[in-house]
Amino acid sequence: MSWCLVGLGSNVGDRAGAIALALEELGRRPQIAVVRQSRLIETVPVGGPPGQSLFLNAAALLQTSLEPLAILSVLQEVEAKLGRQRAVRWGSRTIDLDLLLYDQLVLSTPSLTLPHPRMAWRRFVLEPASEIAGAMIHPVIGWSIARLWQHVRTARDYVAICGPIAVGQTSLSQRLASTAGACWLVDPGPSVAFAAALVQPSSLIENAELESLARRGRLLAADASVWREPVPFWVSDFWLDQSLAHFRAWLPQQRWQTLKTRWEEATRGVVRPKLVVAIDVSMAALRDCLAASGSVSACSTGEALERFLAAWEWCLGREEVGPVLHLSDPVSDLALEEVLAAVDAMRSP
Ligand code: ADP
Ligand code: MG
Repeated sequence: MSWCLVGLGSNVGDRAGAIALALEELGRRPQIAVVRQSRLIETVPVGGPPGQSLFLNAAALLQTSLEPLAILSVLQEVEAKLGRQRAVRWGSRTIDLDLLLYDQLVLSTPSLTLPHPRMAWRRFVLEPASEIAGAMIHPVIGWSIARLWQHVRTARDYVAICGPIAVGQTSLSQRLASTAGACWLVDPGPSVAFAAALVQPSSLIENAELESLARRGRLLAADASVWREPVPFWVSDFWLDQSLAHFRAWLPQQRWQTLKTRWEEATRGVVRPKLVVAIDVSMAALRDCLAASGSVSACSTGEALERFLAAWEWCLGREEVGPVLHLSDPVSDLALEEVLAAVDAMRSP
């Protein structure tokens, strides 16, 4: 038997009735037992077309002998039976059933992603879920549901945008800030370019990286005046932790302990992001970027590229990081929409 955490939502018609009916329908299947259900909470719609009415949201804990894809089709059958129509993305719905967690399974198929890709920053998911399954662990982030809920309630509404190379962090953060009237934190200094890091002496790279770390740390200092501005949220075109990935990828291993300590000193007393938005870059795109710089021979870079991407992955996967939203195409309108919806879903009311 497996444990499933399911999120429920409704904002059309008899909302409470639809949620109760959906749970009744699920419990009627011989392979499913509804073990616990949360109270209903009323929430403001996030993303989607404007002018939608308020949602009722809930969570339920199921025990089932069904496989993940089979339970997803049961959820979709129940949605269909209760009259759900899929028209607009994030539009009004009589009932929405999301498979949030299936044991500790991590899965990515065209029809099913586990854990649910947007659950980690949605207050309307975490609040009811923490009521019934606070101890369940998000297998990608490594945090319990209770810790995620605590994080979205208490962390500053600050989003850090980052990527292994310059691939539109600055323009995406600027578009976000201007669309939503948010405070834009932009690093005015140069950052160490990937191509340069491969050819320059490591002492130069180390100094340049430490300088940008110090500069960025000052921008994010907890006592800086920007945090007192009456804005809906803050967004930066950098992430302080990216320096850690650079130290690891570019500098000799024997410098690591020292640099890690320097990083810890520089980041003491800074505001940490509630959400990290990571722009994913493929090996091929990195190669193109290097080729364009012309300063590095292709044959010497294969191993460096791999080391660099591995350092990024390690950096994003550290236990203290928390929720990460991955984007592959930062210039698209969809990316902007995705991040705006995430910010809306995580923001303090
Ligand atoms: P939302 O993600 O806001 O609930 P929809 O319910 O309209 O949006 O999206 C449903 C689509 O997401 C379906 O086509 C389904 O195949 C896909 N999907 C991927 N992973 C999951 C999941 N864990 N739970 C529910 N639907 C999922
Ligand atoms: Mg859904």
